[in-house]
Amino acid sequence: MSTFKNYKAMVLSCIDPRFQNFVNKENAKKGLTNKYSAFTIGGGSIGVVAPTFKKWHQTFWENLDMSVQLHDIKKVIVINHRDCGAAKIAYGAEKIANRETETKIHRSSLIQFKNQLKVKQPKLVAELYLMDLDGSVISFN
Ligand SMILES: [Zn+2]
Repeated sequence: MSTFKNYKAMVLSCIDPRFQNFVNKENAKKGLTNKYSAFTIGGGSIGVVAPTFKKWHQTFWENLDMSVQLHDIKKVIVINHRDCGAAKIAYGAEKIANRETETKIHRSSLIQFKNQLKVKQPKLVAELYLMDLDGSVISFN
């Protein structure tokens, strides 16, 4: 379970239709219903850090800046997921076919995201997760 305090957050997750309800449920478990800004982009953190999707990166950071100003958010919760089409495009289908390699790719992308967040929004904290096809999550915090 997360150490959620009653702060507003941005939730960064993937556009994959299979995970929208799971992501909502995960946020509800954290007490975040109506307390988060949703930013949904192919790959979650992969869409924000992978060179393949370079054109998307600035859009995310500008939206985050706006959410900090408008909604007073204190953290970014990132929920990537397994069997992600954007991960396949960015890193190759063979990397995603192996569960261990897939985990490494997501961990690496999530940590890159956290490091960039420290530079761009030093006051915000990050929570990093990888969601499985049944909606269960592992944490990299
Ligand atoms: Zn995806």
